[in-house]
Order: sequence, then C-alpha cells, then structure tokens
Amino acid sequence: MSDETQRDILDVDVVCVGAGIASLSTALQFLKRAAAEPESEPPTVLILEKGLYPGAHILSGAVVDSEPLKRLLSEDEFNALPFYDSVRSEKFAYLTPRHALNLPLTPPPMKALGLPIASLSDLTRHLAELCEAHGAEVYSEMPVASLLEKEGRIIGVRLGDKGVDKEGHPKSNFEPGADVHAHMVILGEGAQGVLTSQLIEQQGLDAGTNEQAYAIGLKEVFEIPAAPERVGHIMHTFGYPLPQDMYGGGFLYCLDATHVAVGLVIALDYRRPEINPHELFRAYKAHPRINAFLTAGKPVSYGAKILPEGGLYALPRLITEGAMIVGDAAGLLDAVRLKGAHLAVESGLAAGNALYACRENNDWSCTQAAAYPEALQKSPGWKKMRQYRNARQWFDWGLLPGMAAIGAAFFTAGILPPGRKAKAQDHPVQPAGKKKPVALPTLERHVEKSHRLDILSDLYLSGTEHEEDQPGHLIINNPEICRDCIELYQAPCTRFCPAQVYELPEGTERITIQPANCLHCKTCQIKCAMQNIEWKLPEGGGGPRYKNM
Ligand code: SF4
Repeated sequence: MSDETQRDILDVDVVCVGAGIASLSTALQFLKRAAAEPESEPPTVLILEKGLYPGAHILSGAVVDSEPLKRLLSEDEFNALPFYDSVRSEKFAYLTPRHALNLPLTPPPMKALGLPIASLSDLTRHLAELCEAHGAEVYSEMPVASLLEKEGRIIGVRLGDKGVDKEGHPKSNFEPGADVHAHMVILGEGAQGVLTSQLIEQQGLDAGTNEQAYAIGLKEVFEIPAAPERVGHIMHTFGYPLPQDMYGGGFLYCLDATHVAVGLVIALDYRRPEINPHELFRAYKAHPRINAFLTAGKPVSYGAKILPEGGLYALPRLITEGAMIVGDAAGLLDAVRLKGAHLAVESGLAAGNALYACRENNDWSCTQAAAYPEALQKSPGWKKMRQYRNARQWFDWGLLPGMAAIGAAFFTAGILPPGRKAKAQDHPVQPAGKKKPVALPTLERHVEKSHRLDILSDLYLSGTEHEEDQPGHLIINNPEICRDCIELYQAPCTRFCPAQVYELPEGTERITIQPANCLHCKTCQIKCAMQNIEWKLPEGGGGPRYKNM
C-alpha cells in the first residue's frame, strides 16, 4: 500500500511486539510496579500477537526453572500457573541404535529434580490473561509490519494491513494497519524475529558479537493409556539418531498420567545436506527406549521451532533509543542447561523495572533504559549463561571436545575454557554425498503404525492454517540460484523444513512452495545453503495453533 494510506493512530506508553513469555513478563512487572503507586495514572500497555491467540506459536520442552516466576508473581498467582507435576525422577542416557546406556549421574547443569514441567504454549496463554487482569490490552492476529522511526529513535510500530490479495491488491475486506506510537517498543518476537533482525542489522547492534547459532526442536505430545507411576519422570538423551559430528539430543517428559512429550533438538550447524530433521525425529521415536513410553498411545500434537543457541557472546545490544529486546528475540537461552523460559522471565523483570524507572523520571532515553541490561547482567540466569559462555562453540569440533568444555566450565566456575571462542556459521553445508549417510532403522520393524506419522499427518496435528489469498510470505529471492543448490546440495530445503513446504517435483529444477503449511519455525531463513530464502510476516492469525505444547 502507498505511504499516503490513511491509518488510525494510537498512543500508548509501551507496546510489546509478540505475546511471548518475555514480553508478557515485561508488561506484568511494569504494570505491577506502577500499580503500587495508586496516585498516578495507570500506564497504557499494548501487547500484539501475530498468532490466533497468545501461545499459538509457542513451543518448548519444557522443564521450567521457576525461580524468576516466583519473583514476578504473587504466591497465589504462582500457585495458579498451569504446570504439570514437578520432576520426580530423571535419567540421562546415551543411545546407540538399539540400546540405551544410563549415565550414573545427570550432568549438574541439566539437573531438574523438583522443577515444574510445563507446556509453554499453555503457560503463555495464562500469563496473557494475567496481563489483561493487571490492565494490559492483549490483541491477537496482529502482526507488526514495521517499526516507526523519527530522528534516529524508534517511536512506535505499524500494524500489518489486512485483506490484501496474492498480487498485493486490496480485497473487499481491506483494512490498513494502524500506527501505534509509544514511549518504548518491547521486541519479544522470539528467535529470528523479523523486526528485531532488521533493527539489529540497521543499527549494527550485533557489532563485535559471535554469529548467532540456532537449533531446530521438533516435538510431539502423545496420549497414552494411564501410567500414573511414570508421572514426573523425565529423560534427556544424546547419541542416536544424531551422528558424532552433529550437536543435539532428545527429551521425553511424562507430563501426567496420560500424556508424554517427546522431542528432538538438532543444531542447525550440521554440514550434511542430506539431513532430514523430521526423519531423524521419527527414528528417535522408534528407538526401543523411547518407543517403550509411547506404546499403545497416539500423537495428539506436533510442532517445530528454532532455538537461539549462540549464548552470551552472540547477544546483541539489548537497548536502543525507543526499543528494548527481550527473551529469545535477543538470544537469551542457556543452550547447555536447555532452558530459556527462566531467562525470558528474567529479562522481563529487568525490562519491566527499567520501564517503571523511565516513567517515574519521565525519561525514556537509553541512559535511563540502560537499567534493563544492567539489572539482567546481575541475575542468576545471566551468571549461568556466563559460566558456559565458551562451551557450545567447542561442539564445532565434535561431541567429546564439547562435553569436555562443559565439564571444564562446570568445575572451574567458568574460568575455563578461556578467552572468547568464535562460533562457525550455521548455513554452510558440504556438497551432497561427501559423507556416509546416517543409518536410520526400518521404522516399520519397531514402531506401531500410529507413531510413524509422516510429515503431512504430523502437520495436521499442529493445526497450522493460512489464508490462501494473501501475498506469499516465503520468498525465494533468486530462483536461478536454486539450480546451483540443487546440483551441489540436492536442495536441502526439501528436507530441513519440518512442514514439507519446499518440494522439488521430479524431473524439474524449480522449487515449489506450499506457504499454507508453514509452522513459522524460520529454519529456512537460517539453513538455506545459498541464503536465498526470506521469511516475511503473513497475515495475522495464520500459522500453527499450538496447545499443550
Ligand atoms: Fe519453517 Fe521455513 Fe518450513 Fe515455514 S517454510 S515451516 S519457516 S522451514
């Protein structure tokens, strides 16, 4: 649409882009601090979510380090959180193709006994309701198209237009997106957020940092015949089905008597273009140790999402004039502990307090907002990230150097490994056929039919949907480049996408795209070997509809 389009203008104190745990924690902390001063006007806080509802696009393990939530919430609020049971027993196992070797001890950073098990999508929905109860306005199906800038300062956001057809023309239901002006924009879009990435690049907020590294996590929830004796049991695994030159591992959480969550996390810095994460996930579920927990059950939910794994040295500057970056959008995730929700809340606490100070002093400048990163750097979650700041990078050399680096960081409280280790980029792959293929089992032999979901049956369980008549949100910038990719790497996008969005019809050299299947995981933007795919925001309400994930 042209720049002359008439748009509604809304003025608020704070606007949050994305209703994830970090944005919601920021809003909640700010509103609670302000409410403690009853004589002043309550602040106006707007939270904008692109999904059909808060939590629709949120997916995680998740065993939650709940200590920051206890600082954010009152005791009653904390007790009302939709947690499953706490972890009652845990195992850490190395898998070979047929066997599982239980390690005598769970590595200390991964210990989870007593921590609550959660569905992050459900937790997000609950926190959004709490935010509303404390005075925030939460709107779903509201993608944010761009940041508004004036004289070098972010002054708000422009919502995406609704009712635009495939060719970019207005339809009969066309509605131009409003402009929201705010003292501060909170960017909590999650990993690889569109606006956050643009801002980081435009303002060089990542100058001097390590390249961010990502992993893809695939997850299913199974409904099983009642097994109350297993409630609260969790297992983390490494080894099979990932070869030694790949970083990642699996998890299995017994959520309640009738539900089990199973997932596989695969770092995207793998070099074999033949890798197919969904196939590896199927192989993982087929492993006898994992399959034993799923017997006679059926999968009821499926999803996939990326995780930022680069750690402390990959974090961009967290503030700029008029904006703060929180949670996964900033890369706040502890890859060694496999935890991010606590850092999302921790960043929300620090950002919320900084917003309160900005309002109190009527000073929304970076000088005042710097209280956010300063407070975050003193938090326990940050200190843990700092301890393992050099560990993830050592997995570039393989499993053993990586494990040794984690051990060294643990026993020396982070003094070792020394220096500042760089991280290899995620996207490069080797020409196809260079390495021996990864041997996967014949799934049919081990697994019940209901567990062997192919990718399209799995996709159905994610609930993903998009309006068909809208501009494509997945752009192949130069189709000519795809020809080279097909020849050299045999089109990895047809394998790495967990939703079979990219296909190469037999006998052709042209990739076809099914954007309606997209799970918004952003893997394609990271892992395209030629860096030729751009992920844009689709119309609001599109994408997965995660529940209990
Ligand atoms: Fe993920 Fe890209 Fe596939 Fe969508 S198209 S599911 S963002 S890899």
